[in-house]
Amino acid sequence: MAAKIIDGKAISAKMKEEMKREIAELRGIGIFPGLAVVLVGENPASVVYVRNKGKACHELGVHSEEHRLLANSSEEDLLRLIERLNKDDKINGILVQLPLPRHIDERKILEAISPDKDVDGFHPYNIGKLMIGEPAFAPCTPYGVIKMLEHSNIDITGKNAVIVGRSNIVGKPMAMLLLQKNATVTICHSKTNDLPAVCRGADILIAAIGKPRFVTADMVKDGAVVIDVGINRLPDGKLVGDVDYDAVAQKAGYITPVPGGVGPMTITMLLYNTIQSARRAAGKVKAVEV
Ligand code: NAP
Repeated sequence: MAAKIIDGKAISAKMKEEMKREIAELRGIGIFPGLAVVLVGENPASVVYVRNKGKACHELGVHSEEHRLLANSSEEDLLRLIERLNKDDKINGILVQLPLPRHIDERKILEAISPDKDVDGFHPYNIGKLMIGEPAFAPCTPYGVIKMLEHSNIDITGKNAVIVGRSNIVGKPMAMLLLQKNATVTICHSKTNDLPAVCRGADILIAAIGKPRFVTADMVKDGAVVIDVGINRLPDGKLVGDVDYDAVAQKAGYITPVPGGVGPMTITMLLYNTIQSARRAAGKVKAVEV
């Protein structure tokens, strides 16, 4: 039987409608969420991401600022800008678009962002909070996956969740979030022994590898929930995920497409985190709940 498609575009659109209403309410009580996006250099993919983030803010009525620095700007220039944004009351979220030019220490920059405005969830403080299960900003892509599962009424408690990929921005925080939702979690990587067998044990299989169509149907249990985080551009220009979609969709119970799956959720969760940050800054919530 063909899998049910988890439509990230539709879930994202629904969440944005809810957020529009929330923003209107917040405006009514004098709270105006604001996001600052910082771009260093002209990496073409980053320019597009930054533009899309600005557009999404505009669509929802979130105040947005784009700060562009030249590719040869110094680390000190960037640190000064972050310091200024940390102190700016109009700004509730700061996002520094990665990757940064080689001469800038990415870790140092991410650690300079105030944890209270770290809507990307990459600051060690928020990573640590996530690890010990306390309220924190969760990284947008894995947080978006959790929202997709919840919107699809997929029960996570007690399920075997297997994540392929252990990056700091997807695999590891994904594991923490699933653990918090009471899944039994396995994290796999390039050195995992007999990866297909481990994957076949998954009720929920998450692919975050960066290799086109890597997860094949023989790696998937009948009826499993398959979430494809991968975004890969083929030589012919086609965009595909890490999952061999056509074959796996014949076996899985649920599947996310690429494009139109996890991708649209990432920006949505960035806005979601920014709104929560504005609420917290105004004392309307004590902390950000995942
Ligand atoms: P990454 O930092 O390159 O990490 C890839 C992970 O996959 C690593 O942990 C690596 O293992 C593992 N891996 C590589 N080859 C493998 C193999 N043959 N078998 C098992 N594991 C293997 O990538 P990332 O930043 O997490 O991104 C993963 C994918 O998600 C990419 O396609 C990226 O474009 C996409 N992505 C999408 C969004 C979105 O908004 N939808 C956001 C972020 C990323 P080792 O650690 O052992 O090397």
